Amino acid sequence: MEDARTIRLYGTVADSIVDGPGLRFAVFVQGCTHRCPGCHNPESQPAEGGTVAPIADVLAEVRANGLIRDVTLSGGEPFEQPEACAALACALKAEGYGLWAYTGYLYEDLERRALEEPAVAALLGAIDVLVDGPFVEAQKSYALKWRGSANQRLIDIGRTRSQGQVVLWSNEQSGWEKPPSW
Ligand code: SF4
Repeated sequence: MEDARTIRLYGTVADSIVDGPGLRFAVFVQGCTHRCPGCHNPESQPAEGGTVAPIADVLAEVRANGLIRDVTLSGGEPFEQPEACAALACALKAEGYGLWAYTGYLYEDLERRALEEPAVAALLGAIDVLVDGPFVEAQKSYALKWRGSANQRLIDIGRTRSQGQVVLWSNEQSGWEKPPSW
């Protein structure tokens, strides 16, 4: 049973450099029904696997690394635990963290769900960049940055919402800057 105080995790990586730009804390949730052939994390698919952790513990882990200002939600499928992921994402956002999320769903479908599901709306509203769409093995390329297959989009959620059409994220437009330590 999902609630907004715990989250079912596949695992966390405290210092990822492959789940979005810069040094990031990556949260991999457990459970994903997309079943993409060639999935990078097949062990994260069973809904009953992983470990259940208090969201407060995940937040404490993020805060413990003073160098981290950006967090990525991945999986697994964050939008299959919308209450828990929204609680985590909104708390991080309120503390000024940047947030990326990976999903096997399409952005347009999530916006439709958001009309009926407050947690999906809250989660989408806290995300800066959404990497959307399933992993498609036939479109896989190692040349792609921060996505596994060419069908996946890096969507700038703020600009997409203000312009009323999908706007792809670009490093230059985002204002994201390398920390001085890079
Ligand atoms: S959406 Fe991601 S985690 Fe889920 S099956 Fe596809 S590649 Fe694996």
